[in-house]
Amino acid sequence: MTLLVTKNPARTILIDGEWRESLSHSTFPVTDPATGAVIGRASDGGAEDTAAAIAAAAAAFDSWAGTTAHQRSAVLAEAERIMRIRQKELAALMTSEQGKPIKAAMNEVGYAADFLAWFAEEAKRIGGVAVPSARADQRFITMRQPVGVVAAITPWNYPISMLTRKLAPALAAGCTSVLKPAALTPLCAVATMEVLLEAGVPAGVLNMVTSSRAAAVGDTMVESPQVRKLTFTGSTAIGKQLAAKAAGSLKRVSMELGGHAPFIVFADADPVRAAKGAALVKFLNAGQACISPNRIYVHRSHYEKFVDTLTERVRALKVGAGESPGVSVGPLINERAVTKMESQVLDALEKGARLTVGGKRMEVDGLDGKTFFAPTVLADVTPEMLISYEETFGPVAAVMPFDDEDEVIAKANDTDYGLAAYVYTNDLSTAIRVTEKLRFGMVGVNDINPTSASAPFGGVKASGLGREGGYEGIDEYLDTKLIGIAV
Ligand code: ADP
Repeated sequence: MTLLVTKNPARTILIDGEWRESLSHSTFPVTDPATGAVIGRASDGGAEDTAAAIAAAAAAFDSWAGTTAHQRSAVLAEAERIMRIRQKELAALMTSEQGKPIKAAMNEVGYAADFLAWFAEEAKRIGGVAVPSARADQRFITMRQPVGVVAAITPWNYPISMLTRKLAPALAAGCTSVLKPAALTPLCAVATMEVLLEAGVPAGVLNMVTSSRAAAVGDTMVESPQVRKLTFTGSTAIGKQLAAKAAGSLKRVSMELGGHAPFIVFADADPVRAAKGAALVKFLNAGQACISPNRIYVHRSHYEKFVDTLTERVRALKVGAGESPGVSVGPLINERAVTKMESQVLDALEKGARLTVGGKRMEVDGLDGKTFFAPTVLADVTPEMLISYEETFGPVAAVMPFDDEDEVIAKANDTDYGLAAYVYTNDLSTAIRVTEKLRFGMVGVNDINPTSASAPFGGVKASGLGREGGYEGIDEYLDTKLIGIAV
């Protein structure tokens, strides 16, 4: 893989098919979170670069929207093919830039390619309907058309799959886009764009502004009347700000925001299986996932068994640089994230939580990124503790007992967030009853990974608007046009 564009001077801004420096000629460093070492530089785009990227996307729109669905599908299928060929190289880049263990990075690149494959197929299914009219001399038909220029803002925790989850449906629909990737992971974004360009995406159809000045780029995007759709994945606070600004020009918006997932283990479930599941899903990506369980509620009859099994499993997790063999928990993204873990753990301990494993920073093999935090289990967590209501986004599992179904449903729903929830039960009625009452967009029943390119991902309440992936994913990029015909 080349990544030629990141050599000095960095040219990581993509406008109209050309890799460019920022107009200010400034760059910013990209570091490996495990070591703190600088691994590359990215161009530091601002408002003017963003305006140029939007203009390029607007100029390319008519021609891309005018291609056939089969042509767009072929480009996406080719991108999938290239991405799978480069899976190892992309994963290695992701591990060095974002920190996740190589196996998890391989899985993510596979997941990213799945979106290219899924939307290559969905492109061909953008159809309309014939609707009966009340008038004998009238016929109705609908067609679905691309919304126009899309602005996409993506986070660092899944630095390739979050791009294809937005760009693939946009491309499939016939939209042109401007992407702003997270400042912490611009190199993965460059590598993703290289795949898409090589697959035959024409100049101007995909544009990208790397930047350390998110607000300058974001504001230009939301204020531009040419941008017709904003798709954002990140924090709830920033998502709300952007959605409010996007209302100024009534853009379509999709928001994938924070979560505070409950994980409920009922009395009829196997506590050992549930604890193994919790140990796996909680520490994926070192807990830096919006669907990571944040509150684990265990029926009192299983409480000690669950805590013991979880603790034992967590103690066995190998922490280290993502490149090292056998490592399942990598570094956090930066030192600030470690400080947040420390303050949530300290707050919980002061308020009476019981620490069964971890709880502090770690030194790993002399690596000095200051980004390692020991996988942690806190038992006897109560609602007053920060961790009960603030998103953790790190490797700390918070466990608490419950006695009754209504009580645990009320507690689980007692959050502004509504992204993912997990339920362990062997009783079908409990599974359905509880799932219906949980106010979350996704529920895993005895399942720790309720996600797939073919399934709708998204939340309710403060977790966001819209769905990504699945049949719904492409709707976010399409408008319905009605045609009434007098006959
Ligand atoms: P996280 O805590 O996951 O980093 P953020 O919401 O801060 O979540 O970041 C998600 C994405 O939003 C990143 O690409 C980031 O650069 C971008 N971002 C942050 N602040 C703004 C802003 N004011 N306007 C536009 N984009 C922003």
